[in-house]
Amino acid sequence: MKTTLRLLAVLMLLLVYACKNSASPVYETTAKNSTEKGYQGQKQSAIVPTVNKPVQKQWKGIWSFDDETTFFSNDFDGARLNGVSVDGNDHYTVWITAENTPINVSPWYAFKVWTKNPREITVKLLYQDSRSRYFPKLSADGIHFKPIDSTAYKAINPGEGEFGIKAAPESVELTLSVTENPLWVTAQELYTSKRVKSWIDSLATKPYVSIQEIGRSIESRPIHLMEIDEVTSSKKALMIISRQHPPEVTGFIAMKSFMETISGESELAKKFRAEHTVFAVPLMNPDGVDNGHWRHSMGGIDLNRDWQNFNQPETRSVRDFLKSKSANGYEFVFGADFHSTWDDIYYPVDTLFSGQKGKIVFDWIKKISDRLPQKKTNVRPSKRIKPTMVSSAFFYVNYNMPAIVFELGDDTPRPFLKEKGKVAAEELMRLLLEE
Ligand SMILES: [Zn+2]
Repeated sequence: MKTTLRLLAVLMLLLVYACKNSASPVYETTAKNSTEKGYQGQKQSAIVPTVNKPVQKQWKGIWSFDDETTFFSNDFDGARLNGVSVDGNDHYTVWITAENTPINVSPWYAFKVWTKNPREITVKLLYQDSRSRYFPKLSADGIHFKPIDSTAYKAINPGEGEFGIKAAPESVELTLSVTENPLWVTAQELYTSKRVKSWIDSLATKPYVSIQEIGRSIESRPIHLMEIDEVTSSKKALMIISRQHPPEVTGFIAMKSFMETISGESELAKKFRAEHTVFAVPLMNPDGVDNGHWRHSMGGIDLNRDWQNFNQPETRSVRDFLKSKSANGYEFVFGADFHSTWDDIYYPVDTLFSGQKGKIVFDWIKKISDRLPQKKTNVRPSKRIKPTMVSSAFFYVNYNMPAIVFELGDDTPRPFLKEKGKVAAEELMRLLLEE
């Protein structure tokens, strides 16, 4: 009897050991030591409730100063400017505050300034309990933006370190040449819901690209889904989303290039489109974007915490869309959610969960990195998939999609963003065609 028990114990130990081993990631890509360079990623997100919270609507209008000769305005989509004061000697202070708190430190701003008395002025930007994360962009037309000249930019109380809000200056002072023509001053390039829609429309002139409304935001803005479909027989599909977080324009720019490449004229794209349908929601949070929010939806919620409870209409629209497509027989072979952060980084679902099927994401990252050696990008497999608070976990858990959060840096050079989106599309198409 004793021998049998002992044998049983040994067997169980062996079994435990075997299970542990089989649960190891197929690929070990996590940076193991702190000496590794580059952005190391954020801590795992906390579980937070996603029922509506009050949002302070921004007062919209025009501030006038100096006997109605100098003007500041937030009266346009995507604007954020919460207060202005004149301090004398052509010096102004601008306040930027969040839609509600607590909130991620991504203090978005966008305003216009002009004058009847052309001259140089200085403008100090102040952030509510935050620091100056975004390097200012200037534009004369609201479409074409350029970073401000470094000689016109003064950091006040510079930060420490390489990444994160502590590395950002406490505030900044800008020297602006103001004229009668409005000058846009923004945290990043302006891609409002209108501009995103006209981009989708421009692609939808192709016979195999279409646009549909899959839901509405709290303020009743349409949630647009773009579909690339030239498939002859297969039911393989990809799900792409972007801009759950309004200021994350660099992720959007990479996604835009990714979608343009897949809908392009190359032989690879044509071959790929014959076998794969691509669904994309390029703008998940149109209310947040048009209201110039730092992070949240008009429900006052970080949408990328709502993929378990679905309290928000924006996330529900994608949930319901996927459900109907899956019921229609679609098999999702890849999912990606484009974001921006302190620097480029990948957060794929760990192969610990996704196994051999999820390995394609890691093969893909390697191929992208091989083609773009000029910028090393770290990989942080996500180790928690339940509750499915974030999109990538939801995509994997509910639809078995190899999924990734594709993050681009706030300051990643724009030509590189476009190149990365293109390379990412090409390598993904090749890998999926090989399967
Ligand atoms: Zn984000």
